[in-house]
Amino acid sequence: MSGLYAREGQSVSKMAHLRFFPQAVVGGRGAYLTGDDGRQLLDFSASWGSASLGHSHPAIRAAVDRALSDQAGASYLSSANEPCVLLAEKLLSLVPERARGRVWFGHSGSDANETVARMVTAATGRPRILAFNGAYHGGTVGSMAVSGHPAQQGARAAGLTLVPYPNSYTAGSAEAARDATLSHLECLFAAEVPPDEVAAFFIEPVQSDGGMLVPPDGFFQAVEALCRKHGILLVCDEVKVGIGRSGRFHAYEHSGIEPDIVVFGKGLGGGLPISAVVGPESLMNHAAAFSLQTVHGNPVCAAAALAVLETIEGDRLAENAARTGSVLRTALDRLASRHALIGDIRGHGLALGVELVSDAASRAAAAREAALTVYRAFELGLVLYYVGVRSNVLEFTPPLTLTAEEAEKGVAILDRALTDVRDGKIGEDVLSGFAGW
Ligand code: PMP
Repeated sequence: MSGLYAREGQSVSKMAHLRFFPQAVVGGRGAYLTGDDGRQLLDFSASWGSASLGHSHPAIRAAVDRALSDQAGASYLSSANEPCVLLAEKLLSLVPERARGRVWFGHSGSDANETVARMVTAATGRPRILAFNGAYHGGTVGSMAVSGHPAQQGARAAGLTLVPYPNSYTAGSAEAARDATLSHLECLFAAEVPPDEVAAFFIEPVQSDGGMLVPPDGFFQAVEALCRKHGILLVCDEVKVGIGRSGRFHAYEHSGIEPDIVVFGKGLGGGLPISAVVGPESLMNHAAAFSLQTVHGNPVCAAAALAVLETIEGDRLAENAARTGSVLRTALDRLASRHALIGDIRGHGLALGVELVSDAASRAAAAREAALTVYRAFELGLVLYYVGVRSNVLEFTPPLTLTAEEAEKGVAILDRALTDVRDGKIGEDVLSGFAGW
């Protein structure tokens, strides 16, 4: 085990952003990564969901090759290159009518949400923004400003008001969770936050980094109705769970709503850095004023994104996410009957979360066990992360190409990891190289 921390000649531990696993990856194919010791690691994180087609997908390799060898395509005319134009057209065809105006390209979910935050206040003249407790909209100052995740407390905007995201598990039922947040919103509008001062409401259709929380039925429809009533823009952050991952192309489809602005990232580039904001013309004309950075509108990344969208459509990968997601879900449900640590299993498609608790009745968070399980799974050949405002939710965001066999294999490894953690076969010492959130 100690070999994993600092192998001779290896500088992995010198990397400032090393968060979880002290091992370099030297390759990957499909749902597997290859460690620098030759180990094959089944990747249930797909790099936090960005490797939507898995690793080294031939369609992405071909698209990137073509874009790199095409001199015209490789000149950076701030998004005015063919792959970006085609990608913009494609994205516009995928959003609801009310959002179908223009597209802004960035390179991360963070810069996209940051641009939206500044755009909506400038375009509407309204100074306030609503978002949810636990929401992760990015790691730049401007995107942290509209986030509610505990990891981001330092940079919240003065005009930000955070609302509790309904948590059906801790509230005891979906109805209780939905009603509590809706009445909280009503009180807020009546007493504290004049709704006509609110420019936008940022939502995650499934709150992923906050704990893979699935909204109760009807919740976002009620939020949408409130937004329409008060002229508040509904901004849907599809960065983590969008683009097929939830089993539908957009995760907001599960809630039956139509956002005004849709934000894409992560899986859009299939591992290459690209994000996009799609919204109505009247708003998007303000976007250009805020952020134009050197590699925005990068034709190579746009070509990769086009290949991702074509492959998701052609290979019916949203359907695969629904189908394989239900195999994964069933296998996890089987584990739940044998591991008392498992308190709740939730999600859509291939965006699943398993909440670990030390006591089922009080739902006390088993954060230490979550970290130990993640580390033990890594040792056994499965890459997972944990998320959640209490750091106790195992997150499953594998490639959309995952097979049923891979799903079963990953759960078998997780079973062993949970057993070893329960039996005390793995101790605190293993977490010394593991910084977590
Ligand atoms: N939005 C959501 C919903 C996310 O989950 C994340 C990243 N976890 C981001 C935005 C930020 O994306 P990025 O890391 O690409 O900046």
